[in-house]
Amino acid sequence: MERPPTGSGTEASAIERPSAPHEPPLSGERGGRAGAASGFGVGEARSGLIGWVAGRRPGPLLLCVGGLHGNEPAGVRALTAMIDDVRARRGRMAGDFVAVMGNMAALDAGRRFMATDLNRIWTPERVLRGRQRLEGGAGGRGGPAPTLEELEMVRLLRVLDAVALRRRGPVHVLDLHTTSGRGGTFASTADLPGYRRLALAIPVPLVLGLGEHLNGTLLDYLDGLGYATTVCECGQHREPRAVARAEAAVWIAIAAAGLLPAARVPEAAHGHRLLKADSAHLPRVLRTVHRHPITPRDGYRTLPGFRNFQRIQRGDLIGIDRRGEVASPRDGRLLMPLYQRLGEDGFFVVRDSGTVLPPPANDRAPH
Ligand SMILES: [Zn+2]
Repeated sequence: MERPPTGSGTEASAIERPSAPHEPPLSGERGGRAGAASGFGVGEARSGLIGWVAGRRPGPLLLCVGGLHGNEPAGVRALTAMIDDVRARRGRMAGDFVAVMGNMAALDAGRRFMATDLNRIWTPERVLRGRQRLEGGAGGRGGPAPTLEELEMVRLLRVLDAVALRRRGPVHVLDLHTTSGRGGTFASTADLPGYRRLALAIPVPLVLGLGEHLNGTLLDYLDGLGYATTVCECGQHREPRAVARAEAAVWIAIAAAGLLPAARVPEAAHGHRLLKADSAHLPRVLRTVHRHPITPRDGYRTLPGFRNFQRIQRGDLIGIDRRGEVASPRDGRLLMPLYQRLGEDGFFVVRDSGTVLPPPANDRAPH
């Protein structure tokens, strides 16, 4: 498993300190040594903020999350590399650009997670418990000691509270990930028209309905707050190009969300070409038709050699587990075949949805 670089001066210096004059501090934040974050070399603020750039004029807020899974550092690297360039355009910016690290402890360890998947714990009950911990109430005391991920959740809730409090327009969220298998460059969003504008601006395959197969994702929770959320999978964990793809997706999102006029974001046009070149051979829109859930007890392993979007047929052998062979129950294309130890999804099956989007499930707009 890849190990992120340890604190070089250049990386640390690119980190926005939350106490910078034009950037709002987070309530309850304590400065000082970051513990787990120190090894990843991305600053000292325990908030995990890579940067909060407040534009001169009111406008939408774009929240970018990198490294929600600790073995997926490409998003953090991209956000860290570009934050100064975003800040330099603050005078022309409408709204806010916020970049935050996901699972700091796991990023430091280079693991998907430490105790529990930080992208599967955002259920109403666990968020409530996290909120009680944040506020130091009864739920925060007396029970079992919180896991590292439950503490990460409390930290992120603090950032999300600042977003809710300080936003000056609609909130868009871009959650940056990578996959263990090859060829995994795609976006995914809830099937809502208000969400599609930003998701479709990123010229990679758009996979609809993936979130409906998953419980407790961060975006599930943020969807519930009425934010327009998009996941961008930027390729394989160890692929250098994954960082460039993540940067491309963020610049495109900055322009698409309306933080800056397109003319002020030449990186978006460059990013558009880069992503399009990688995805030109793939369908524009796909729909999720199957998820193969796994637990550690299953001992599931994907057979070697599969890649994302590879065509498969019903009955094709995809992996093995302790009961024997695991075949696909559907025709379609394989998505996110698992090639790492930790994970709850063996693989997904998606199907081409044509170039025209199907009618939305409902028409709730982001706010
Ligand atoms: Zn991930």
